[in-house]
Amino acid sequence: MTFPLGVVFNLLMRRPFIAANWKMHKTIAEALEFVKEFLPLVEGAPDVDKVLAPAFTAIRAVADALRGTEVIVAAQDVFYEQKGAYTGEVAPGMLKEAGASMVIVGHSERRQYFGETDQVVNRKLRAALEAGLGVILCMGESLQERQEGLTFQVLKRQLDEGLKGLQSLKGVVLAYEPIWAIGTGMTATKEQAQEAHAFIRQEVAEHFGEREAQALRVIYGGSVKPENIAGLMGQPDVDGALVGGASLQARSFAAIVNFQEGQ
Ligand code: PEP
Repeated sequence: MTFPLGVVFNLLMRRPFIAANWKMHKTIAEALEFVKEFLPLVEGAPDVDKVLAPAFTAIRAVADALRGTEVIVAAQDVFYEQKGAYTGEVAPGMLKEAGASMVIVGHSERRQYFGETDQVVNRKLRAALEAGLGVILCMGESLQERQEGLTFQVLKRQLDEGLKGLQSLKGVVLAYEPIWAIGTGMTATKEQAQEAHAFIRQEVAEHFGEREAQALRVIYGGSVKPENIAGLMGQPDVDGALVGGASLQARSFAAIVNFQEGQ
């Protein structure tokens, strides 16, 4: 088995991080069925951080089913206050109590359908970190923004605003998710992903220093499948994936987690 030099460096520096975003799918029973099928399939991938993000309602059950394993449970959203009259919202401490240790913030579907601004995303991120949750912060440009040559400008704004007030990126994973690639089957090419990831890492280095930038995991999301994960992971600045559609079946998500097999 031989890896390109960039991949070896990457694997030594940053542990791969592969997360399933189930969105508004799976009842508790379906989530538990997934876990039962998934765990034996990923026994051969101990050196990959594996994350499942169920709907709020299934967090407790999934966390219980994963007890004693290394698989991490993440929530898909969080509110930025710890308690109060915020009907329908869920506080960071409540997620922890339910068994989540991470949370996704700033997903493009939250920005698009629920009007979340960079400022709201930043408040959520800071509240989650303060409560001791790890955070997967999502960012990415729309098709129009890419076509107008605004990709880096958008990423810079989302990074500057999203990470405002942080002294360190401990506990943070950044997810580059071009909106035009989410759920469309249109994956960014590995070169497009690498270019955006390298830009993100360089911006992070400018704000937080080279050491933090090199330690930070920057993962890619947007129509990741078993067929394209190895190519993406072969890029020096791609440290993992946030997977929607292909994470709903245990077999296809396990094939993504097991991306190192057969290389
Ligand atoms: C996502 O929603 O984060 C995502 C990347 O979805 P998909 O894999 O279906 O494109």
